[in-house]
Amino acid sequence: MTEDFEPMAIGPAARRGTRAVTIRWGARSVIVGGTQPVRVQSMTNTDTADAIGTAIQVKELAQAGSEVVRITVDTGEAAAAVPAIRAQLDRMGVDVPLVGDFHFNGHKLLSRYPECAQALSKYRINPGNVGAGSRRDDNFAQMIEIACRLGKPVRIGVNWGSLDQQLLARLMDENAARRVPWEARQVMREALVTSALDSAARAEQLGLPGDAIILSAKVSQVQDLLAVYRELARRCDYPLHLGLTEAGMGSKGIVASSAALAVLLQEGIGDTIRVSLTPDPGGPRTREVVVAQEILQTMGLRAFTPQVTACPGCGRTSSTYFQELTARIEAYLRRQMPLWRGRYPGVETMQVAVMGCVVNGPGESAHADVGISLPGSGEAPVAPVFVDGQRTVTLKGERIAEEFEALVEEYVARRYGAAQATDARPAG
Ligand code: SF4
Repeated sequence: MTEDFEPMAIGPAARRGTRAVTIRWGARSVIVGGTQPVRVQSMTNTDTADAIGTAIQVKELAQAGSEVVRITVDTGEAAAAVPAIRAQLDRMGVDVPLVGDFHFNGHKLLSRYPECAQALSKYRINPGNVGAGSRRDDNFAQMIEIACRLGKPVRIGVNWGSLDQQLLARLMDENAARRVPWEARQVMREALVTSALDSAARAEQLGLPGDAIILSAKVSQVQDLLAVYRELARRCDYPLHLGLTEAGMGSKGIVASSAALAVLLQEGIGDTIRVSLTPDPGGPRTREVVVAQEILQTMGLRAFTPQVTACPGCGRTSSTYFQELTARIEAYLRRQMPLWRGRYPGVETMQVAVMGCVVNGPGESAHADVGISLPGSGEAPVAPVFVDGQRTVTLKGERIAEEFEALVEEYVARRYGAAQATDARPAG
């Protein structure tokens, strides 16, 4: 090894220093920004006026791991239902703050439904959708004044699809007067950033503390998102909520969101994320939470659930058993987590490997905490198991899956249960 090389970076850039925003509900709170981990958010797609249906979906999202849940508040019926949703969540023991998503009539709803304004933990305000002309500033001020009075934080959430048209027109005019005008796309990006920053400055002038403001500027194209958020990060220290808006369905939505969010998170930008996936027909809304967690976990930023390393399979894979076992183990680990989370601290960092043959199986299994190397074609029908890098038992026969699950359960109790027992030991 020569002295000329710098060691390779071992992780993402340090998070940029942002203000810490506290979101409260009852006696509980969650902090976004500052030194806190990147938070996972989601949004319901129920009719908010259906208080029970909405509370059930909020519960599902929270149980999947969403740390903040946003609900649409678009009508008087929806606003009237918000206190009932909060009360229902409290009765069900669902520990998550509710954020109200307001467009066009937020000033009226927050004024006319004070119990809704109180029950919400944060307001999302889109400065492009607060009204037109002279009403715009008044409507925005009305919402900020309510937030100030009730001590609620606000996310100023600008969106490409509802950009403040007056601001855009002004920036376009200024651009036309430039000696070398920018491209229209650059002006649009600047308009997003300016809209967010000017609105935040106005909110502060109206009395909202700087540490009660979170910003977002969502667009649907990855390169636009990167440019806009880098600029926001350069020009302010408000916490930033990241999300590629209208990311789309299935693999397209997941890949686009992952590509955009990963680049920014790697640069230390982003305090909270949402993956705006269009659910498959009949598919679970909670998918967006799982994807958000997986983005953070695969990047090494947070740990939520033990991860399964699995090879893709190839001509050496002897049957579909290898895929079935991988799916089964993944489902098993996710199913166990609600129970394990409290009982076995640290279990979410566990690595499990399920490999298809002897080529990489033993090596990859030995790198995991617990791994199994299934027999490939032409190999003896036995599956060696590796624990903490050491080959232990060899499984065979019809009950490999059940026996492997039992070994994982035993490992979890021994390794992570021991940590809890040590922590629980009385001092002195
Ligand atoms: S571990 Fe074996 S089965 Fe899996 S991809 Fe590699 S060679 Fe193929």
